[in-house]
Amino acid sequence: MRGLMQESPLNICQILDHAAKWHPEQLVISRSVEGPVTSYTYADLHRRARLCAIALGQLGVRQGSFVATLAWNTSRHMEAWYGIMGCGAVCHTLNPRLSAKDITYIAHDAQDELVLADATMLPLLGQVLPGVPSVRAVVLLTDRLNMPPPEALSSLSGPGGTPVPVHCYEELLGAAAGLPGALAGFRWAVVDENAACGMCYTSGTTGNPKGVLYSHRSNYLHALLLLQSDSLPLSSSSCCLAVVPMFHANSWGLVFAAPMVGARLVLPGPHLDGPSIYSLMEAHRVTVSAGVPTVWLALLAHCEAAGLRFSSLRMAVIGGAAAPLAMVEAFELKHGVEVRHLWGMTELSPLGTLGDPKAASLGGRTRPREGLSAAAAAATPPAAATAAASYRTAYLATKLKQGRPHVLCDMRIVDDAGRELPHDGQAVGHLQVRGPAVVSRYFKAPQPAVDSEGWFATGDVASIDPWGYMSITDRSKDVIKSGGEWISSIEIENLAMGHPGVAEAAVVAIPDERWGERPLLVVVPRPGVEPDAALREGLLGFLASKLAKFAVPDDVVFVPQIPHNATGKVSKRTLRDVFQAHKPP
Ligand code: ADP
Repeated sequence: MRGLMQESPLNICQILDHAAKWHPEQLVISRSVEGPVTSYTYADLHRRARLCAIALGQLGVRQGSFVATLAWNTSRHMEAWYGIMGCGAVCHTLNPRLSAKDITYIAHDAQDELVLADATMLPLLGQVLPGVPSVRAVVLLTDRLNMPPPEALSSLSGPGGTPVPVHCYEELLGAAAGLPGALAGFRWAVVDENAACGMCYTSGTTGNPKGVLYSHRSNYLHALLLLQSDSLPLSSSSCCLAVVPMFHANSWGLVFAAPMVGARLVLPGPHLDGPSIYSLMEAHRVTVSAGVPTVWLALLAHCEAAGLRFSSLRMAVIGGAAAPLAMVEAFELKHGVEVRHLWGMTELSPLGTLGDPKAASLGGRTRPREGLSAAAAAATPPAAATAAASYRTAYLATKLKQGRPHVLCDMRIVDDAGRELPHDGQAVGHLQVRGPAVVSRYFKAPQPAVDSEGWFATGDVASIDPWGYMSITDRSKDVIKSGGEWISSIEIENLAMGHPGVAEAAVVAIPDERWGERPLLVVVPRPGVEPDAALREGLLGFLASKLAKFAVPDDVVFVPQIPHNATGKVSKRTLRDVFQAHKPP
């Protein structure tokens, strides 16, 4: 027998209807690509997203069309997202940090019909469009005043030099608003909740990039679980700065979750450097923000150099790559900002686990209300100081783990033969997940991406402890196998980043005749620190005091910077290529 409750299909645009009806006054603040910071309400966003849907309909966008965006996090990009999905089309976020060759491959594979792009993307589009015959037109997300000159627009061409029409976004919206009864008669497209609404491609570090096709249902459910208080404590009284780009796994769901609860939302535009992020945080009293470690590294370095504190930030969500101890300590102990470490993948929408400590795993105690900062420690009565210090150590160790799965993500680790391994914190195996916001098949792939029981092999190597906290030791392709032992590059990197002379560190395998592979530590020294033999010896000694002997790197090389890929992660493939022939002394 079926239940007798209403069966209204979940649709991502209902989120914006809700925000406009119940939080119409709440602000969306955006640093525009043109420069100025703009601000309007969810009611404005709702109106403009619907106008965008009307305008896209006029340009021939239909249910099932693929419409690409190539843009930074701005309010126009957010309107475009909902506008596209509200036509029943698929919003395909292209990552502008990828090479023109990769973007061409991806847009062609998706058969994108339109591209909605920041005006600054024109040169990139000029390289991409000749390889993508499916693109009928480009819409530049700007106003007439900021449109590039006509000669730049007319030079944009598709295959064989055919001109591609370029529209001005604000003019399209103006025209849509001028249609009689346009908004009064407007309804979002009614689609099945399992219909596709968004697509992101994986970074393609192994083979060609692969499309992950999200549905209204999967994104809606994912946004709901992002709002569990164990995930992100968002509410109508919080202010969320979405540093993680909308083209990076849906901005981790933030632009769906924030309007769901009427949280104030700040979109940082193209500038993700430390000073720009800091000034936005302070100007708009941001309480929670999320991004990859590279961004946090730059922000913390800026605060340190300029002697700045956060006056409103309560939580820093770190994901996409491992959060090093030095970063967790800087936030928690120095700035009194709680860190929430999360692990995920494009294939998981992307959230898989989150590192909120269970009281049970910390002797029944929860994080003190006053936080863990040095000031809070100083205010602790002497009688309680030892217990507080031991709590702090255990708490920080837990924060370094990637976290526990949420209710929509089941998880296990298996050995090479697919046998499930125990959750003892020791056994290390291949991490697998399954759930309603996990990919089942890549776009256009003939075969499922999962086994017969729905398990998706993440390509990560991990352990799970008795409390359920998962710890990633490596990406399987980055694992260092030395004399039969697995060495965790993440563990060494985390330790190295705790050394006072190190700004950033990465560990890669180099070939070794005797052991097969050995770890090499690549280091960017802190500004003002000399990259000399003393630093090298000091670092190796520091690591030797903390690691098993076989895991201590054979050498340290100093570099001015470490290469990062298009999603801000260290590009280990590049480092391996560069240092393949490196011979330790
Ligand atoms: P994401 O949007 O999370 O960056 P990608 O698909 O680009 O998604 O990359 C996913 C991979 O990033 C994971 O399989 C894992 O190797 C790595 N990763 C993500 N979060 C973490 C984390 N907190 N700690 C360590 N590695 C992580």
